[in-house]
Amino acid sequence: MSDEKKSLSQLVAELKELRQKVSELEKAESACRAFTGKIRENEERFRQFFENISSGVAVYDVQDDGNDFVFRDFNKSAERIDRIEKEDVIGKSVLKIFPGIKKFGLFDVLQRVWKTGQPEHHPVSMYEDKRIVGWRDNYVFKLPGGEIVAVYNDVTRERRFEEQLKIIGKAIEQNPAAVVITDRDAKIEYVNPKFTELTGYSSKEVIGQNPSILQSGQMPDDFYKKLWQTILAGRGWQGEFLNKKKNGEFYWESASISPVVNEQEIITSFVAVKEDVTEKKKLWEQLVEAKEKAEESDRLKSCFLANISHEIRTPMNGILGFSALLKEPRLSGEEKEQYIELIHESGNRMLSIINNLIDISRIQTGELVLYPGATSINEIIKSTYVSFRDQARQKGVSFSCKTGLSAKESVIKTDKARLNQVLSHLVGNALKYTGEGEVSFGYKKNDKMLEFYVRDTGIGIPENQQGKIFERFRQVSLDATREYEGAGLGLSLSKKIIEMLGGDISVDSTPGEGSEFCFTLPYAPIQSKNNQPQELEREGYYVFPAGFTILVVDDDTISRLLLKGVLSGQNVRVLLAENGREAVEKVEKEPDIGIVLMDMKMPVMNGYEATVKIKEIRPDLPVIAQTAFADPGEQEAAKDAGCEEVLSKPINPEELLAEIRRYV
Ligand code: ADP
Repeated sequence: MSDEKKSLSQLVAELKELRQKVSELEKAESACRAFTGKIRENEERFRQFFENISSGVAVYDVQDDGNDFVFRDFNKSAERIDRIEKEDVIGKSVLKIFPGIKKFGLFDVLQRVWKTGQPEHHPVSMYEDKRIVGWRDNYVFKLPGGEIVAVYNDVTRERRFEEQLKIIGKAIEQNPAAVVITDRDAKIEYVNPKFTELTGYSSKEVIGQNPSILQSGQMPDDFYKKLWQTILAGRGWQGEFLNKKKNGEFYWESASISPVVNEQEIITSFVAVKEDVTEKKKLWEQLVEAKEKAEESDRLKSCFLANISHEIRTPMNGILGFSALLKEPRLSGEEKEQYIELIHESGNRMLSIINNLIDISRIQTGELVLYPGATSINEIIKSTYVSFRDQARQKGVSFSCKTGLSAKESVIKTDKARLNQVLSHLVGNALKYTGEGEVSFGYKKNDKMLEFYVRDTGIGIPENQQGKIFERFRQVSLDATREYEGAGLGLSLSKKIIEMLGGDISVDSTPGEGSEFCFTLPYAPIQSKNNQPQELEREGYYVFPAGFTILVVDDDTISRLLLKGVLSGQNVRVLLAENGREAVEKVEKEPDIGIVLMDMKMPVMNGYEATVKIKEIRPDLPVIAQTAFADPGEQEAAKDAGCEEVLSKPINPEELLAEIRRYV
């Protein structure tokens, strides 16, 4: 009823109001529509971002009061990184999909972030389960709705790269070669410890410097120019150069320098790897020298063999030829004597060659032993003079000698026999190589040394040969037209002997004018007891006491006869024994025996055993041993057996008689 009563104007007003509300509702609806659209747009944006971000993103719902995390979302990058499809993870527990998560340490982080709401960074660590392995870097945070989000990256490649870099760095640090890295302007940026060891420069001292600080100034400028041209052209360079260390010492290094270019092919740095090759170079030079020496030695040896064969055959020829001639019954006494003299000379020449050869081989094996004793230098000078006087006279060469000290002062401690050997060889050579003029020799004292000289006016020696003649087998003329005899051993032997005696030997010579050989010996004076050195005795005349008996023991008939011959005419009685046992028996039976001359190598009983037995019977009976090899070992053994003296075969009669006289 009331509606009916409402006035039209009221109705119109209500309608207006209604229309107003409808229009407001319509406005609100349109605003709402616009708002929903915005939300959708944002959601879409977020999704795009979520799906296309390069990091993996996993969104978890928290379950079981923070004891489990269930996948709510999983983006494409996460699928790629963990090699698993989104549909296989959604709604599943993180513990199931990633069973290694607790060991990895991320599960604790998820729990902490859920509890505290504070975002956390789980630093690069290695994740590993049966399915996947890799290095991961995780950021975890909590959404306002309570979900937990993990944003992560696979850093396996970077990590591997870092590790490789570390390894390479270590390899450079510990490299046995020196490594230098410079920038493109050749300023040093890095040197390894080996560089410091090699050059003496610390890394601090050289960083920022140019490697030219190592230049020795000995390499041609062109050398560095070419080096730079090569490396600036982007090519590697390899070569050797002489450099200088911090302490000024030069050294050779073998270097390999390479330019390093960036992606735009622009040189950014240079890397040099260098090795000290000073020792290698030295070794190489020594090797080359040794090889040349070996070849030369080989050549010399061949020459030597040809020579030695000649040298041995010539005296052999003399011995055999003249001994055959001696059988000729119609020979005059004078001829016989001349032939015997020639045979004797040839024998001596043979002996000297054999002695030299034995000495040389002993020197090589280090077995040459010296026997230093009181030696009168003046006597050696005199006896050498006497030995060569006739030869000089025959050649018409003026010959003289000089002593530099009084007889008493001239007695020194040295190896008499060896000194004699050297001096005789030098004087012999001087006469050999001098056709006319003069040969003189002698010595003088200079401070603590005796200086000997042997001068001649002979053929002389070319300068380029003067250093070489002291080498083995070396002769100035090696060809078949050689005018002079000799095996090229004497000087090398003399040099070794003089050096062993503590001196030096040298030569000064002018071809065509002559030579002077000089050698020194330490002056080690000895006060001689009676001022009467033994050598003098040799020249005096000696008569053995009547009935003096000598027992000669030798298995070789010729040697026995030779000794008997030497002793005959000396007013002595000679008994012979063929072996050690016979000798012992004779000593037992014959108390008159005054001395025994004992060969050492014999059948039945050798000389060593026999000497021991003889000394048991008559300890004071002198025994003089004779050995064929004069081996130092044999000498020792003979002395050990009790022999007073050891003489080497062939026996020099004068020497033997002098020795015997010492025991009469
Ligand atoms: P050789 O036995 O051949 O003489 P050496 O060793 O004594 O051997 O001498 C080596 C070389 O030195 C000789 O072949 C000779 O050429 C030279 N020589 C040595 N002494 C003299 C000298 N006084 N005058 C000239 N040349 C010499």
